[in-house]
Amino acid sequence: MEKINIGQPLFLHLPKRLEGLEDLAENLWWSWNPGARMLFKTLDRQAWKESGHNPDKMLRDFPHELLEKAGFQPDYLRRYDEVMTAFQNYMKPRDCQMLGPVSLDKKYAVAYFSAEFGLHRSLPFYAGGLGFLAGDFIKECSDLCVPLVAVGFMYPEGYFRQRIPDDGWQENLIESVNREAAPISKVMTKEGEQLVIKVPLIDPMIHAAVWKVAVGQVSLYLMDTDIEANDPWNRKISARLYTGDLELRLRQEIVLGLGGAQMLNALGIDHYLLHLNEGHAAFALLERIRETVATGKDFSTASKKNIHATIFTTHTPVPAGHDVFSFQLIEKYFHSYWPSLGLDRDGFFQLGIHPEKPEEGFNMTAFAMRLSGCRNAVSKRHAQVSQNMWQSLWPDVPEDKVPIDYVTNGVHIPTWIEPKMKLLLDKYIGVHWLDNHDDPAIWQHLNKIPDIELWQTHYWLKIKLIDAIRERARLRWAAGDASTSITLTGGAFLDPSVLTIGFARRFATYKRALLIFKDLERLKKHLKDRWRPIQIVFAGKAHPADDPGKRLLQDLINLARNPQLEGRIAFVEDYGEQLAQYLVHGVDIWLNNPLPPFEASGTSGMKAGLNGVPQLSILDGWWEEGFNGNNGWGIEHDKTSPDPDGSDAGSLYDTLEQKIIPMYYNLSDKGIPHEWVGLMKETMKSTAIGFSARRMVRQYIEKFYSKCMEDALKAKY
Ligand SMILES: *Cc1c(COP(=O)(O)O)cnc(C)c1O
Repeated sequence: MEKINIGQPLFLHLPKRLEGLEDLAENLWWSWNPGARMLFKTLDRQAWKESGHNPDKMLRDFPHELLEKAGFQPDYLRRYDEVMTAFQNYMKPRDCQMLGPVSLDKKYAVAYFSAEFGLHRSLPFYAGGLGFLAGDFIKECSDLCVPLVAVGFMYPEGYFRQRIPDDGWQENLIESVNREAAPISKVMTKEGEQLVIKVPLIDPMIHAAVWKVAVGQVSLYLMDTDIEANDPWNRKISARLYTGDLELRLRQEIVLGLGGAQMLNALGIDHYLLHLNEGHAAFALLERIRETVATGKDFSTASKKNIHATIFTTHTPVPAGHDVFSFQLIEKYFHSYWPSLGLDRDGFFQLGIHPEKPEEGFNMTAFAMRLSGCRNAVSKRHAQVSQNMWQSLWPDVPEDKVPIDYVTNGVHIPTWIEPKMKLLLDKYIGVHWLDNHDDPAIWQHLNKIPDIELWQTHYWLKIKLIDAIRERARLRWAAGDASTSITLTGGAFLDPSVLTIGFARRFATYKRALLIFKDLERLKKHLKDRWRPIQIVFAGKAHPADDPGKRLLQDLINLARNPQLEGRIAFVEDYGEQLAQYLVHGVDIWLNNPLPPFEASGTSGMKAGLNGVPQLSILDGWWEEGFNGNNGWGIEHDKTSPDPDGSDAGSLYDTLEQKIIPMYYNLSDKGIPHEWVGLMKETMKSTAIGFSARRMVRQYIEKFYSKCMEDALKAKY
């Protein structure tokens, strides 16, 4: 393994007076606290930018003189002391009084397993919504002091970076994560070596080194198979997120599940509620059952005992989102494992059979559904869809009684509120609003914000977005390998005074990225309108194995560079956390038009709504609950129509023409669209109250964690 000193003190050259910067850099708390970020940024803006907004990386090579200089500046020191005090207070052991009547027995920590975590741009261990949901979830658990540990993967090659060549066919660039410069640290053993887990009973033996990410009070432990102890084939297991190779994928899931459970034991965490965020980690279930079987119980007793302490969250109705492994593969890896469960081959296969498609293979979702005491979907609508999908697992139960509950997703407010918008809210709602953001009463004060101030803040954010997009296009051009037309479609023509629609998400076909082009002539009229034009900004990656998704993207690029659309369509490359921040803060409308019922929840719209960006969205996923008639527009999908796409697109145009465009361009003498600003306020209010991660985490506690805890205690788990 290459020489890595992580886990040792990093910045020995920090001046004594600024020593705390090291602690701060090593805990992602800085990422959702603008004051902390500013401490790094104001040291040296250029270095901050070059580090990719990663203080760990920035401080590593930072000139000592500049730090010394900062150590003498009274203004810097004052801010430093403020931030350090806030950080120390945040990290103090606090009571979970915020949890109200639910008291968590700390002995039963929650272990939250997820194949991806979207936390910050410096840790590219996510592909999309599932990852950000997991990231926002653990940040909020930290805010609420929920005794939780998180388990995931360290992907040295992250998820790919997207580049659009001249032919518009997405290229996938692999960029290796520099472990030394990422905000992670090695977990060390007493002997002073990095902790390495051996995945039990799997042949050949797989080893995984353990890293830790400090997310406020929550520790996220990541497993890394790229170490010398493994043979070359095994080193690649955790290289990349969602590989298309099914066998590699199975090996990943074995490491995540079995290795993850083993890792928790090695860390001394052996009593916990197991929360499986999607089926990828479901093998974790087996390790606990195996341990119980080892005490002399049979499989049935052992699994019943463990079922109480397990929560499974399903995240998508799209079939490709559910892993199914051939029985052959399962046999290859698990033949030495199932005896330890007291099962034979057939008994083991039965655990993962989908009753309607038994020949298909071992279905991870069916497996997790069977062996979890609590199951949930991620929106009300998605619960109904899931009950329908999985009814065959409960053949004696009517569909609406199938035991799949729901907790609608939410977003971590401190992460997604734009700092300037936060300052505006500080001014009118009160400086402590962020601590109490789930109290609906405080949001009544939102109406006190003068329209002009909210509008100016929004307009400033829109300019910031367009500047950032143009800068990306310029740099791409300057690199010398981009054609003129690709550079121009990258957003060079965007105009801040134009009504700007944002559409950013994975390019999966069910998301229907091209729906708004359905009637090109009708759309063109608005793109070309001299007085009240619209422009649309797109972003998103297609999964490397998803050719139909890539084709959609290519079609979009060709539309964008068609001069007849007058440069009003932009596609911005490489959608990720940073671009998402700019987009959800700065566009005027957030467009989402998936084909129902495939959008389980969707969260980007919540991020936009929080910042006053109203939705124009098909009623599916979270929007079916979120739309209240005054906070945007909800399009009813007509599935009986002979041409559902055409009819949905027609409703989109009607809404744009009759409602959105007239309202947006209805300006007062002073240039303020008052009615629009009223809509923005209602949008912010309803999103913050209804769709925060705080509301979500509290519901997980109330509905599942506390109940599981009681059941687990009763079952003497
Ligand atoms: C929030 C987010 C997502 C998820 O958005 P959806 O609306 O669920 O598609 C995906 N990618 C990034 C970078 C995000 O920030």
